[in-house]
Amino acid sequence: MSEHVKCLIIGSGPAGYTAAIYAARADLKPLVIAGVEPGGQLMTTTEVENFPGYPKGIQGPEMMEDFRKQAERFGTDIRYSFVSAVDFSSKPYKVTVDEKQTILADTIIISTGATAKWLGIESEQRLRKLSGGVSACAVCDGFFFKGQDVAIVGGGDTAAEEATYLAKLCKKVYMIVRKDFLRASKAMQRRVETTPNIELLYNHETKEVLGEQGVSGALFKNVKTGAERKVDITGFFVAIGHQPNTEIFKGKIDLDEQGYIKTVLGTTKTNVEGVFACGDVQDKHYRQAVTAAGSGCMAALDAERYLSSQGNH
Ligand code: NDP
Repeated sequence: MSEHVKCLIIGSGPAGYTAAIYAARADLKPLVIAGVEPGGQLMTTTEVENFPGYPKGIQGPEMMEDFRKQAERFGTDIRYSFVSAVDFSSKPYKVTVDEKQTILADTIIISTGATAKWLGIESEQRLRKLSGGVSACAVCDGFFFKGQDVAIVGGGDTAAEEATYLAKLCKKVYMIVRKDFLRASKAMQRRVETTPNIELLYNHETKEVLGEQGVSGALFKNVKTGAERKVDITGFFVAIGHQPNTEIFKGKIDLDEQGYIKTVLGTTKTNVEGVFACGDVQDKHYRQAVTAAGSGCMAALDAERYLSSQGNH
């Protein structure tokens, strides 16, 4: 016999754990399948200073530990497994865990998050792992570079938005764009071009991020002329897009053209009745721990109301 739960939560970042806290307190006895990176993107973050309730700031992994403990305090069953397949074709919905076990669920909350894309060069990854000034989130980490010189790679709306955000905090921002134009919207292009302390380097790619323990500079190459340029910076930001973690949901649920789960505006409802989505897997605009947590709360409330409407709670 397959295990049958009322509420299955897939993913264990701020969205998933917040959904679990609310669902557990509402007596839905949630089961969380924590996924391949339990705790999500915050597990690879250092200091978090913008999550309310931590006046002195907190390390990302420590905060996720607090989230987990709070979810467990109300009886959430957390399993360090991953979901390998889903079947939403009939109720109860079927989820395959670790490619072998089938779990049946009356409601499902998807909070599998998104993954930041990196350039993939050795020096970027080495300094990222050392927490040495390489970041994929200007809103999270820009503050640490107040009054300093930084670079940001990318030419889309995120890069443009983050470059103007950084320009307010930093002395100088180099924006590195691999083509000879920005992909960002016209309004964002104008903002970038008219911000005096942003220097746009079109047709440039990153050859190397310099520094041993922390970023001290970067080497860029003009792809048209071959000329190299070294700049002195202490922060290196990458804003070349995110990949929502929705591979297993393709063809099972409505996704937008970039693969994010579509939700009904103002709710966490997807096109599949009783399946809800929260956090970065359905949000390409805000991507903050606090907004993910907020939408996790919404998903649990939506799931509870759905079960009540079915006479199941
Ligand atoms: P995008 O995919 O739109 O842009 C990615 C950018 O990174 C492009 O300029 C791309 O260059 C560049 N890039 C990709 N790979 C590399 C690489 N290996 N090296 C150097 N550069 C690279 O991602 P965004 O995160 O900017 O935006 C995602 C979506 O979210 C978009 O639809 C965007 O409009 C939306 N968004 C909207 C906002 C708003 O409305 N306020 C704010 C933020 C995002 P190239 O152009 O050459 O491919």
